Amino acid sequence: MRYWAYFAAKLVAGGALLYGLLVALNSAWPAEVPHFFTYVPPRFGYDLPFTLAVLVWFLLCTGTFYLIIWDQRYRCRVCLRRLRMPVETGSWSRMLQFGRPRIEYICTYGHGTLKEDELQISGLENPEWTPHSDDLWEELCASSKEPGDQP
Ligand SMILES: [Zn+2]
Repeated sequence: MRYWAYFAAKLVAGGALLYGLLVALNSAWPAEVPHFFTYVPPRFGYDLPFTLAVLVWFLLCTGTFYLIIWDQRYRCRVCLRRLRMPVETGSWSRMLQFGRPRIEYICTYGHGTLKEDELQISGLENPEWTPHSDDLWEELCASSKEPGDQP
């Protein structure tokens, strides 16, 4: 829930900033006041500087939206910190043994692992988030125990 609230907050902040920029753009180029029996064409498409400014604003909007989504993909789902330590796993030459090459990112506080395919052939695929247990020692001790040991 906190993860999606942070994403929504970033979208609202980016949208407010870009809307303010659009308002400033419209105030910098005020619309021409129509006179009696005269046709005033719309600014967009007829006024080249205004049209170029709107184009730049549109590119800023798409870039901001892309950066917000890109940043959100590589954040921990629990603590919202950036995921660190990318590790490449797998091999194309030994794909049948180890699987397709992937990149794994971890949260430095041990909340989970994000596994993303290195090569995305069929479009952008969703990375796989694997949450870890809250007790770090449980996972470390589980690997050293024999299957027949009782706690
Ligand atoms: Zn975390």
